Amino acid sequence: MEDLSVKGLVQNTDLSKHIADASWSRFVQFLEYKAKLYGRILIKVDTFFPSSKLCSVCGFKKEDLKLSEREWECPVCKAKHDRDYNATLNLLREGLTHLKRVVGVDCSELMPVEGTFVPCEAGSSSIH
Ligand SMILES: [Zn+2]
Repeated sequence: MEDLSVKGLVQNTDLSKHIADASWSRFVQFLEYKAKLYGRILIKVDTFFPSSKLCSVCGFKKEDLKLSEREWECPVCKAKHDRDYNATLNLLREGLTHLKRVVGVDCSELMPVEGTFVPCEAGSSSIH
């Protein structure tokens, strides 16, 4: 998951009500609890990881991506991105990189497929 800076987001008047409504901190606490309960690993990707700005296909970083831009096209590889889905792919890849460092499991083939995840063959260390 993305380790969001809730304090910073609440200062953004456009987002503050939504963040407060979602009780983000409590959600994270529940997620940590459930992960621990079921022996799963919850990986928080750094707040400053540019998940929305990176092209999930070629890695180009779109520095000038505005919050209002929900879709964008990579000027390098011409891939068309839905902002949130692209960010999800980047967060997944970054999380898997962390996972490999933490437990030595390579789940690089784990990719979202039609809204679900294809589990990797990593035995008890796999994530679902
Ligand atoms: Zn690209």
